[in-house]
Amino acid sequence: MYGYSGKILHIDLTTRKSWTERKPEEWYKIYIGGVSMAARLLWENIKPGCDPLSPDNPICIANGMFAGTPVPVGGKYGLASKSPLTGFIGDSLSGSWFPVALKRSGWDAIVIHGASAEWVNVFIDDDRVMFRDARKLVGLNTYETEEAIREELLDDQVRSATIGPGGEKLVRFANVTNDGRQAGRTGHGAVWGSKKLKAVSVRGTRGVVVADPDTLMKLSFDITQQAQGPYTVKYRVLGTATNVLNMNKLGLLPTRNFQQGVFEMAEQVSGEYMEEHHKVKKIACAQCPIACEQVSAAKQGLYAGAMTGIEYECLFANGPNLGIGDMNAVIKLIEIADRGGVDAMSQGVTISWAMESFERGVFKKEDFKCKKYPEGFEPNFGNAEAAVTLAEMIRDREGIGDLLAEGTRIASRRVDAERGTESYKWAMHIKGLECPGYDARGLKTFSVGLAAGTRGGCHNRSAAYDPDIQGEVNRFTIDETRGKVAADTEEYAAVYDTLPLCKFIRRCFTGKADRAGAWPTIAKLINATTGWNFGYEDVDLIGVRAHTIKKAFNIREGWTRADDHLPYRWHHDPMKEGASAGHVVTEEELEYLKDLYYAAKGWTKEGLIPKAKLIELGMEDVAEAIGV
Ligand code: SF4
Repeated sequence: MYGYSGKILHIDLTTRKSWTERKPEEWYKIYIGGVSMAARLLWENIKPGCDPLSPDNPICIANGMFAGTPVPVGGKYGLASKSPLTGFIGDSLSGSWFPVALKRSGWDAIVIHGASAEWVNVFIDDDRVMFRDARKLVGLNTYETEEAIREELLDDQVRSATIGPGGEKLVRFANVTNDGRQAGRTGHGAVWGSKKLKAVSVRGTRGVVVADPDTLMKLSFDITQQAQGPYTVKYRVLGTATNVLNMNKLGLLPTRNFQQGVFEMAEQVSGEYMEEHHKVKKIACAQCPIACEQVSAAKQGLYAGAMTGIEYECLFANGPNLGIGDMNAVIKLIEIADRGGVDAMSQGVTISWAMESFERGVFKKEDFKCKKYPEGFEPNFGNAEAAVTLAEMIRDREGIGDLLAEGTRIASRRVDAERGTESYKWAMHIKGLECPGYDARGLKTFSVGLAAGTRGGCHNRSAAYDPDIQGEVNRFTIDETRGKVAADTEEYAAVYDTLPLCKFIRRCFTGKADRAGAWPTIAKLINATTGWNFGYEDVDLIGVRAHTIKKAFNIREGWTRADDHLPYRWHHDPMKEGASAGHVVTEEELEYLKDLYYAAKGWTKEGLIPKAKLIELGMEDVAEAIGV
C-alpha cells in the first residue's frame, strides 16, 4: 500500500507483549486514519460497558494519511478511548512531530491494552517495542517529561506523547501532550494514568512511500502558497484569540460561568491586546505554513514569567468566564493547565462552576481550605489568585480540587446529593464535557450540533456555529432546514478530523470553506498519496463514516435520545444584555431540532441507526451489533 505501512501495532501493558495486525486495503478506504480509524479500533478492541479507567479500555492511536509527507497541516494523529468524563467516545486530535515520527517508524496505528503494574514509558524504536521504567518521570510536567526522555535516550529526534501530574492523578479532564500540543477534551490523560503509562515515545527512521510524489509535491506547494495569503491571515496574525472581541460584540462571549455574554474587560483579554503586550513569538506544528500558535508571556505582577501558547477557547474559559480581565493571570492559568497536562477549557469551566456555587452559598470559605490557605479562601468571580490556586488544587487533587477534578457533571451531582442544592442549574456541560466558548442561546443551529455531539459539548466536532455567525441562517430562530445544516457541518468537520488536516487550511483550496471548494483538491491529495481513485463522493463519505462509527460506539455504550441535551441554563436563563439578550433555546425547540437532525442523518426518531444505512456504508459488523 502507498501512504500506509499496512501494519497496526498492538501492545499489552499487563503482559508486556506486542504483536502486529494487518488489515485489508478496503478497511483503510473506509476508516482512512485520524479520529475515524482510532474510533474504529476502539470499537474493535474495547470490552463494551467497561469502566473507562479500567485495563479494559484501550488507547487507540491512529496516524494521519498525510503525516510525514509534504502535505501542509497534515502532520496529525487521532486518539480514542472511552472517556472517563462522558462515558461515551473520547476522540481527540493532536499534531506536530509525534505523528511524523510514528509514520517514519512504520506503524499506521497503535492499540495499547491492559495496565502496567509500574509507571512505564513505551518506546517504539522502528520495529522494536521497549517497556522502560518511568518511575523517575512521575511528577514531571508534560514539557519536562518530553525533555527528560530525550536526554535519557540521548536522541533529540525521539518524539513523545506524555501525561503530566493531572493525568497521573486521574483528573477526568487530563490531556495527552506531544511537542507542546494537546490531544485534549475528553480525558485521555486520565486513561493513560490509570494504566500507569507516562509516555509513548517514538523513533522513526524510515521514509514514507507515496504513489505519485511529483503530483503530491506540486499540490502541496500550491496549497502552501495559498496558506500564506489572505485566507489564513486571521490565524497567522492574532490567532483564534481574535474571537474574544467578535464574540463579545455578538453577545456570545461566555462570562462569569455563562451568566453573561458580554464582558466589560474584553479589551484587556483580547487577541489585539495580547499581540501588543504579551506576545513572545508564533510557533507552528510540523508541516504547517500557517503557525497559529501565539506564545505569550505574563510580564508583570505575581505571575510574571508564566508563558504558554494561547488560543481562544483556553482564553475565554480562564478569562471572561472567570470574570478575570488581567491577561497575566489568564496566561498563568493556561500555563498551569498545559504543563500539568489538564484541559484548559474544562479547567476554566469547572472553576467557574465552583465560583458561582460559592457566590450562591453552596460552598463556604472553609470548603476551600488548602496548604496555601489553611483557613480557606473566597473564590469570587474576578479573584485571579483564587482561580490560580484552584487550578493547582485540581491538578494535584488537593482539598476541594479532588471534587473539581471529577469535572462539572460529577461534581455538581455529588454536591447536590450531599447538600440538597441545585448547582446542576449552572453546571455548564453536555454529556459531561464542559461547554466551549460560543453561547448557544444566540446560536440556534449550533445548539443542536452541540447537544447531539458524540463527545459532548464541543465546538470542534460540530461546525454549526459558522452558518449562524456568518448570517447564512437567522441565529435567533429555528426552521425545518436546521437539522440538515447541523448534520452537514458536522460531517464536513469529520472529513478534516479523519485525514486529518488542520481545519485552518479549509479556505486555501479555492477560497471557499465548503465541500465544492475543498473536496476536489483533497481527493487529488488522497489519490497522489495512496494511488486510490477517490472522487468528490468518496471524500464526502469519509465524514459520514467517521461520524457514524463514533455514534455507533455511543449507542453500544447505552446512549439514548435523552443524552442529547443542553445545560439547564441555556434553556431557562436568558442573557440580560448585549446583542443576544433575551434569548434561550427552549426544551421544545431542542426536541424539534433533534427530530430534524436525526431525520437528516437518516436515523430513527429515537436517534438510532438503521441496519440498511450501516450496510450501505460498508459497516456490516456494526449493523449486526447496533443497527435497528
Ligand atoms: S494552523 Fe495552528 S493548529 Fe493548525 S497545524 Fe498550523 S500551527 Fe497547528
